[in-house]
Amino acid sequence: MDCPQCGAADVIEIKHRLPDDSEVQFFSCHRCEEKWWDRSGDQLNLKEILELVRKARA
Ligand SMILES: [Zn+2]
Repeated sequence: MDCPQCGAADVIEIKHRLPDDSEVQFFSCHRCEEKWWDRSGDQLNLKEILELVRKARA
């Protein structure tokens, strides 16, 4: 996975499980500090992830 922001290949990948039991991958770029999430091939930003967590807890 390359960073969509700067193209660096130096990207951290961490798996997360949301409260609704779906799995997402969290990516963080070393070079430009871009952060993003991926769920089943869909790229999500922080706002969308927080929305999913909020909905799952409601
Ligand atoms: Zn980057």
